[in-house]
Amino acid sequence: MDTSDRDEDPNANEPPEEEDDEEEKKQGREICFDGCGRPCSVCICSYLPPSPIPTSTHILVLHHPHELRRNRLATLPALTRSLLHLHSLSGRRLHPSSSSLLTSPSSTPLLLFPCPNSIPLSLWASQNPPSARPNLNLIVLDGTWAQAKEMATASGPFLSSIGAIQVSLEVDEGVDGESTFESELVLKKEPFKGCVSTIEAVARALRILEPEEKVGVEVEETLLRVLRAMVGFQKRHLKPIKPRPRLTKKGHLLLPSNSIV
Ligand SMILES: [Zn+2]
Repeated sequence: MDTSDRDEDPNANEPPEEEDDEEEKKQGREICFDGCGRPCSVCICSYLPPSPIPTSTHILVLHHPHELRRNRLATLPALTRSLLHLHSLSGRRLHPSSSSLLTSPSSTPLLLFPCPNSIPLSLWASQNPPSARPNLNLIVLDGTWAQAKEMATASGPFLSSIGAIQVSLEVDEGVDGESTFESELVLKKEPFKGCVSTIEAVARALRILEPEEKVGVEVEETLLRVLRAMVGFQKRHLKPIKPRPRLTKKGHLLLPSNSIV
C-alpha cells in the first residue's frame, strides 16, 4: 500500500504493519451502513455536510438497476446524504409515474445528457433566469455510458411529452488551456468508473443553476471535497490502472463518464 500521501498520523508507526494490514482487511469487510454506504476502510462520512444542503433545484437521479449492485464504491449514497432535494430512482427509463415532480404542470425539467442537440447548460441558464424557470428539476442518468444512452432513449418519449430540455456541461477554459473541470476529471479516470462523474456533474450543474450563488458555491465545494476524498482513498487502497481516454468531445463533457468502461 502506498502511504506516501497519507495525512499526518501520530500512530503511523504503530501497530506493526502486519497488524495494520489485518485491521484494514477486517475494516474492508465492514460497510458503513448508517452513513456513506461504503466499506468502513474508505468511509467518507467525515467529508459529508453535517446535514443535507437544501437547494432550490430538485435533482432526480435515475440509476440503472445494475449500477449500485455492481459497484460497491458507488457515490450515489454520498450524493443523497449531501443534498436535501436529491431524489434517487432505480429503473431503466422515466415514465409518468416515476415522479410527481416531473408531471407537475409548473415543472421546468432539464435532462443533463450530451447529445448533438443538447444546449450548453450555462447558455440555457443565461437565457432562462431563475424567475423564468420555476420548479427546476435536473434529471441525471447514472450508469455506464451504454446504460445511460439506453435510459435516455427509452425515456425520450416521456421526456418530450413534458417538454424536457437536453443540456450538457461545457468545459471551462482555464490557464494553459486546461480546464478546471478537466483537472477534476483526471482524478476520475481511475478505478471509480463512472459513479464519481455523476457527483461531479451534479456539482457543476448546481453551481450554474442555483439562483443564490453562495448555495451553488457551497454545493460545488462540498461535492468536490467528497470526490477528492474518494480519490484519495482510491489511490491508497486500489491498484492503479491506466488512465482512460479524455472524456471531452467538441468542447462538451461526455456524461456520465462511467460511459467509458
Ligand atoms: Zn461512512
